[in-house]
Amino acid sequence: MTYDFDLFVIGAGSGGVRAARFAAGFGARVAVAESRYLGGTCVNVGCVPKKLLVYGAHFSEDFEQAEGFGWSLGQANFDWATLIANKDREIQRLNGIYHDLLVNSGVTLMESHARLLDAHSVEVDGKRITAKHILLATGGWPHIPELPGREHAISSNEAFFLKTLPKRVLVIGGGYIAVEFASIFNGLGAQTSLLYRGELFLRGFDGAVREHLQDELSKRGVVLQFNTDLERIDKQADGSLQVTTKDGRVLHTDCVFYATGRRPMLDNLGLENTGVKLDKRGFIQVDEQYQSSEPSILAIGDVIGRVQLTPVALAEGMAVARRLFKPEAYRPVNYEHIPTAVFSLPTIGTVGLSEEQAKADGHRVSVYESRFRPMKLTLTDSQERTLIKLVVDADNDRVLGCHIVGPEAGEIIQGLAIALQAGATKQMFDDTMGVHPTTAEEFVTLRTPVAS
Ligand code: NDP
Repeated sequence: MTYDFDLFVIGAGSGGVRAARFAAGFGARVAVAESRYLGGTCVNVGCVPKKLLVYGAHFSEDFEQAEGFGWSLGQANFDWATLIANKDREIQRLNGIYHDLLVNSGVTLMESHARLLDAHSVEVDGKRITAKHILLATGGWPHIPELPGREHAISSNEAFFLKTLPKRVLVIGGGYIAVEFASIFNGLGAQTSLLYRGELFLRGFDGAVREHLQDELSKRGVVLQFNTDLERIDKQADGSLQVTTKDGRVLHTDCVFYATGRRPMLDNLGLENTGVKLDKRGFIQVDEQYQSSEPSILAIGDVIGRVQLTPVALAEGMAVARRLFKPEAYRPVNYEHIPTAVFSLPTIGTVGLSEEQAKADGHRVSVYESRFRPMKLTLTDSQERTLIKLVVDADNDRVLGCHIVGPEAGEIIQGLAIALQAGATKQMFDDTMGVHPTTAEEFVTLRTPVAS
């Protein structure tokens, strides 16, 4: 049977665009459908605008600290509308780049919704289009749990487009997005509280990292409330929000921001017309080669819910393009040692195992830690401290995990990820010259294990 295309990709986010471009480059006839925005979550309502807002939020500290170096700046004023307008302009520029990347690599771009009709066909703008392979790369969407007054809450999708900066913000959740946005709102001047249902936020991260960030956010004035959750949200006559917690407390705020995880985006996708199955968590179930239970349909990125990170979606997109259209170049995605940064203020950088996970996996561990005041802050009033931590296998000296909470953590952790990927031992870290004076050099000067 002949098909209109060799590959039809649904979703022009990080993973979908990568797969489409490379498949076209390998000679395949490729189409992409995108109904929302080119570049997906990362470019439009995720990594990119988030990082721009984090930069914006950091200036409040920079202005304060500048005084210690002799600068006097007068009264600093912040204008949210300017930040958002400039951010929007930059995102529009990136949307254009994504458009050109696709079109210039020979991909047919359809800026419309696509719905599956069967294992080899989709419907776009009322037309039936056939393809040998269909790739689902539709990403995720913020999930706000059911509760009375849910309609008064916003998610990250809306936060990027608020008309004004709320005076008071209540962030709900304890994952990446919750701590990043708590830092953004706090840094930009909103009275910020973070409310999380568990003992301590960032479940799964190293315990020392979680506690360190707890201290640092508290020092900066973010009010942290753990072991609690919301019962209901009521809008008041003056437009403010009254929030009742499950432990019976009443709080007042101007914005309730939910960051309680993301669900797969499957709305009106037509999965029921195919044999595609979902896993227990509701994400698309795929095998190691991203093939769904319908052999001609594949899926990658946030919609498979494996690791919801842009670089992972890119790697998965590349793997699919190669496997289908250049099998001699195919290499499976390596999910080990994925470095990650949480762009809270201060930032977390982490790669490899937490101390808790290493022990749970049966390793006998040596732990090395350093806590210090970053040099840049010694001339200022800031009491911020940095944490550096190494988790080492005591039996074979392999470094299992590197963790940092402090300035430039995201930049520092990338290089350490290469070391872990190469199987570096603690001895190799010790034999490496430091770069002086930097924060990163602490990773090669940790000599004495701490009692864990
Ligand atoms: P996460 O999965 O990281 O965190 C969700 C948080 O919400 C957890 O603290 C969870 O609690 C809590 N939660 C979940 N369901 C409920 C509920 N029904 N009621 C109350 N609390 C709830 O999700 P995010 O939304 O923060 O981010 C989604 C993903 O996006 C991240 O996991 C990450 O992969 C990616 N991301 C990456 C970033 C980066 O690389 N810097 C930045 C932002 C997002 P509990 O722990 O108790 O389950």
